[in-house]
Amino acid sequence: MTAFDSAVEAKTLLEGLGVDSTAGTWESRSPIDGGPIGRVDAADGEAVAAAIGRAHEAFLQWRLVPPPRRGELVRLFGETLREEKAALGRLVSLEAGKILQEGLGEVQEMIDICDFAVGLSRQLYGLTIATERPGHRMMETWHPLGVVGVISAFNFPVAVWAWNACLALVCGDSLVWKPSEKTPLTAAAVGALFRRAAERFGDAPAGLLEVVHGGRETGGALVDDPRVALVSATGSTRMGREVGPRVAARFGRTLLELGGNNGMVVTPSADLELAERAIAFAAVGTAGQRCTSLRRLIVHDDIKDALLARLKRIWSGIPVGNPLDPGVLVGPLIDRMAFEAMEKVLAEARAQGGIVTGGERLHAESWPDAYYVRPALVEMAGQSDVVMRETFAPILYVLGFRELDEAIALHNAVPQGLASAIFTTDLREAELFLSAAGSDCGIANVNIGPSGAEIGGAFGGEKETGGGRESGSDAWRAYMRRATNTINYGRDLPLAQGIEFSLPVA
Ligand code: NAD
Repeated sequence: MTAFDSAVEAKTLLEGLGVDSTAGTWESRSPIDGGPIGRVDAADGEAVAAAIGRAHEAFLQWRLVPPPRRGELVRLFGETLREEKAALGRLVSLEAGKILQEGLGEVQEMIDICDFAVGLSRQLYGLTIATERPGHRMMETWHPLGVVGVISAFNFPVAVWAWNACLALVCGDSLVWKPSEKTPLTAAAVGALFRRAAERFGDAPAGLLEVVHGGRETGGALVDDPRVALVSATGSTRMGREVGPRVAARFGRTLLELGGNNGMVVTPSADLELAERAIAFAAVGTAGQRCTSLRRLIVHDDIKDALLARLKRIWSGIPVGNPLDPGVLVGPLIDRMAFEAMEKVLAEARAQGGIVTGGERLHAESWPDAYYVRPALVEMAGQSDVVMRETFAPILYVLGFRELDEAIALHNAVPQGLASAIFTTDLREAELFLSAAGSDCGIANVNIGPSGAEIGGAFGGEKETGGGRESGSDAWRAYMRRATNTINYGRDLPLAQGIEFSLPVA
């Protein structure tokens, strides 16, 4: 293990990105060595209310700026991100613990959504609709919505915010962002880069992006404020259960991106070499801390033993260590709580008949305050209680099946509905999996794993995953309000449905 001091790394990166992290009430720690890496100020309810007030003022101005001009700000932000990709990507690795390739990938995802949003700024189309009334025209127009509150999770500390922010900005909205309390410094850095882009832009209203730090209470202040038109919240299903009803009680809008419990079906015709690579990336990548991580492998009985043997070989040799070191493929868990949750769940799995390979703690002697684990493979006889839950750690349950219908039923039996995949070379099997009778998830893939989505598609899932869709396709509509307009250019007043309503002659 090479000598490493996260505080020294963080200081250089943060100074370069224009963030003062020397003082503040909230401390951030790197999961790489468990050491403190900087501070930010936490916002209390009053500070959040003031931030929402500033964002609302900004919205009143920003909604009047033509969308392509709004796109110019996002274009400049994308340029700033290109300039700082190396530093920001490294900071993501340092604070969230993902390997550098994935840290850089996360910033690339931000750049990609900037490009997407710039194009979108000229394509906020509404429909023209056939009207039943003569001398009339009917159409839809899309208007800015208001202040968008973004609550984000630790595992994608900046990209998921960018999916929301870039679309919201071209749609004419302003933003108040409550990042994860575990990754405040990357958010502070993104805030500084956004300010840099706004200065280049010239006349962006102050308050267009407000960043408020803190835990659940800070998030709660956003959730309850009626000036926040849309709360876009990414995190656990537990969080969504609390946030959803509170926003609904004030008739606000929510966009919920919650937990997943993603499955892959492998049939006898699958290309096993492709499958094993996809399984490894999806199950152990980001140390199993992606919402789309592969958690359930449903393999045909005829190939299960062969595939399992191959996976055991891969699992035992996978390089686990400092995510900034080249060659390392699995970094640390985010914190001790995550490690304890993993241990507890593995014990439960054993108690429910599971055969566990791996899962032990690593590097505890070098870094007693950091939590590295060997990814675990768990053979299960059935889809017991523990398999039905999302555990945010690198645990892959392996189940068998005989008939494809049985595999699809198993796959869909969990309460979550985010991402899914089938590995097969049989067209009938592939099409069935993608059909109405197939996977019930928001993302369904063939011959690629469930994780690692591109920004061009709509991202999100069904059931307890919350139903939200972000990023590409027509996800922008969530950030705007739709008005249906009917214009009468005739000299008569025909009523819809042929209703007669003649006033008595006076
Ligand atoms: P978390 O639920 O602990 O926290 C997420 C965010 O919600 C944090 O900013 C937190 O402060 C805030 N929060 C928590 N309770 C709140 C409350 N009552 N009111 C307001 N804000 C509240 O999740 P986490 O541990 O940071 O992230 C892991 C979880 O996120 C996993 O379940 C994962 O599947 C999910 N996730 C989902 C997606 C997706 O797109 N579906 C993406 C990333 C992560």
